[in-house]
Amino acid sequence: METVTKFELVEIPCDICGSMQSRIYKEYKTPVEYQDIYNAIGYTHQQVVQCQKCGFIFNNPRITEEQFKIISGTDPEVWRPKEIVISRRKDFFEAQIKLIMRYKKGGKLLDIGCSYGTLLETAKEKGFQVYGCEIQEHSAKYADVALEGGVFCGKLESANYPAQFFDVITMYALLEHVWSPRTVLIEANRILKKTGLIIINVPNVNSEIAEKNLFWWNPYHFSHFSSKTLENLLGVCGFKVANRLFTPFVPRWVKKYQRQIYRYLGGVVFLIQKSISKFPSCILDKGIGVGSGLTIIANKQE
Ligand SMILES: [Zn+2]
Repeated sequence: METVTKFELVEIPCDICGSMQSRIYKEYKTPVEYQDIYNAIGYTHQQVVQCQKCGFIFNNPRITEEQFKIISGTDPEVWRPKEIVISRRKDFFEAQIKLIMRYKKGGKLLDIGCSYGTLLETAKEKGFQVYGCEIQEHSAKYADVALEGGVFCGKLESANYPAQFFDVITMYALLEHVWSPRTVLIEANRILKKTGLIIINVPNVNSEIAEKNLFWWNPYHFSHFSSKTLENLLGVCGFKVANRLFTPFVPRWVKKYQRQIYRYLGGVVFLIQKSISKFPSCILDKGIGVGSGLTIIANKQE
């Protein structure tokens, strides 16, 4: 990357409650893997803050969305190659569609940040009418061809979907990347049917893996959610939580058998997860909150 422009950093308010009062939560230096991007942005370390009012953790100050687009938006090199994305996510998404089907058996399903359309392909096989929304041009094109249409390339707010159009909206590894999660969720609420369902999956800031800094130094992660802050945001945007599931950290040898485990023991796994999710979030966050991923299933508020 040739850019040497030093971008100006701007202070932003908390996306959930609008407060400007925050304290420094964590500072970290440029990781080697992302040196080029950080050099292009023009800073050598990132600052993560926590809102003093609502506890939300986010990167601040930061470059503007427009500036970030200049650096990353059209550069496929900075995103993982499709073979890796597809093969890594296939089993996971199959399990996720099974989970969704416990709540909704069919209808119109929109995957926001659909990448190469892996989740949508599985959903389509199961009979859903699928739609995708993806900001990266190369993956959006790939998904659109694979799914024979229905993929919009751009931000959700520009797609102009009709109000109360979708039965299911999914966001896997999306909200931590977007500039304003609140804006995305408010739009998702508008286009979701009254009886609709939203499924959100984000890295869990309270997991042990986060402690080892895995999530912090990724220059594409701007928001760092716990179940408490994500549920708070969902409430602000007109949703009520139906269930929350923590993805436990599983060793590689177990992952190899994930598909079989879900095929034969999916019901049991779901029941265990469901009972755990009844615990108050203060316990889940600190005690069992070792899950690297956090999945929230929510309905629209009446
Ligand atoms: Zn706040």
